[in-house]
Amino acid sequence: MNIQSVRGFHDIFGKDVKKFRKVSDTARRILKLYNFEEIILPIVEYMELFYRSVGETTDIVQKEMFVFEDRKGRKLSLRPEGTASVVRAFIEHKLYALKPYVKLFYEGPMFRYERPQAGRYRQFHQIGAEIFGAAEPFADAEIIKIAYDILESLGIKNVIIEINSLGCKRDREAYREALLKYLSGVKEQLCRDCISRMDRNPLRVLDCKVETCREVVVEAPKIVDYLCDKCKAHYEDLRRYLNALEIPFRENPNLVRGLDYYTRTVFEAVSDTLGLTLIAGGRYDYLVEELGGPPTPALGFALGVERLMLLIPDLEEKEDIYFLIPFGDVHEYALQVASLLRKQGKIVEYSYRKGGLKKQLEFANKLRVKYAVIIGEDEVKNNEITIKDMETGQQRKVKLKELIRGYS
Ligand code: ATP
Ligand code: MG
Repeated sequence: MNIQSVRGFHDIFGKDVKKFRKVSDTARRILKLYNFEEIILPIVEYMELFYRSVGETTDIVQKEMFVFEDRKGRKLSLRPEGTASVVRAFIEHKLYALKPYVKLFYEGPMFRYERPQAGRYRQFHQIGAEIFGAAEPFADAEIIKIAYDILESLGIKNVIIEINSLGCKRDREAYREALLKYLSGVKEQLCRDCISRMDRNPLRVLDCKVETCREVVVEAPKIVDYLCDKCKAHYEDLRRYLNALEIPFRENPNLVRGLDYYTRTVFEAVSDTLGLTLIAGGRYDYLVEELGGPPTPALGFALGVERLMLLIPDLEEKEDIYFLIPFGDVHEYALQVASLLRKQGKIVEYSYRKGGLKKQLEFANKLRVKYAVIIGEDEVKNNEITIKDMETGQQRKVKLKELIRGYS
């Protein structure tokens, strides 16, 4: 039997690697402009961390988490998302003691047991950013702007930013009552999951993907109508700042996100082209405290690398590769020439296959190199190399001395 990759776990290779790097490099470049620092996090955490942060009754924890036991019977999880880990690290290393506020970003694989389909895998990659110690709405505006800048920089079009406010704990209580009252009246129309959600976490009903539930939810009371004055002002300010930044956004009063830790601002960048969310995030002002840290308002976002990859074109950047072709027993000389060129920052491909000139030039074309560097016994004798431009076919000799001086 041939062993294949595990369902939902995919290889990224060839052209896709270029796209992957493009997304990653772009995000990193933009995060740098906002002065974020990187944190490299473990992939495995205690399962408890996600129970307590993402929420016990969310789909991510209930249905999508990879959980296993170590040899001592402790329950561990492959991380389904990054925020919980960053918060854990922020508390564990007392990062709050160092600066007035802290801005961190991470990149890496996440794991969710979902039904694989286009843009949905069991191992996928996220880049996320978090700000700790910022309560003001201009921080929310900046977080959304970063997401927007990344999409714009990648040339991704047809994206709309959806925003909503989930208010503070008190607002949520009041809203929960109203929502429950409404849902009780339409209970027969809800799916089985949603009926159980009503008892445990009725806000999750707003996030249900079942068509009939989505219809029911349209008429449900809206959380924005239950915001206290402070939360209302925060939301208003955010919208003012987004307008000032010229970020096109749409208010979506049913946007609640799939994780329980959010307060006040939540947002998603949704692709009309794909009908999928590309980037999502929001504020989580209680999470640090709930996980045992000092009260710290915080917010962030995560982007799905594979989803952004679906929306960027193939990248045809041609590099100036030197293909070094040795003829005969000239490897001592040829290897030295290769080293010399690489020392000067040139990309050198040393031909690992034997063959005559015709064969070697065929390899050169297949490898899509710009120059063939031919080294035979004559070249060794004369302390030179022959360089052939593969596009123009022009050929010339260069002395080793010139090469050392810095051939260009
Ligand atoms: P969705 O509603 O599409 O399931 P989500 O709300 O579960 O997304 P988040 O937990 O907010 O997603 O993760 C942030 C981003 O990570 C998503 O917007 C998406 O780009 C990406 N993402 C989430 N799950 C997957 C997955 N299974 N495969 C690929 N990318 C994913
Ligand atoms: Mg999901």
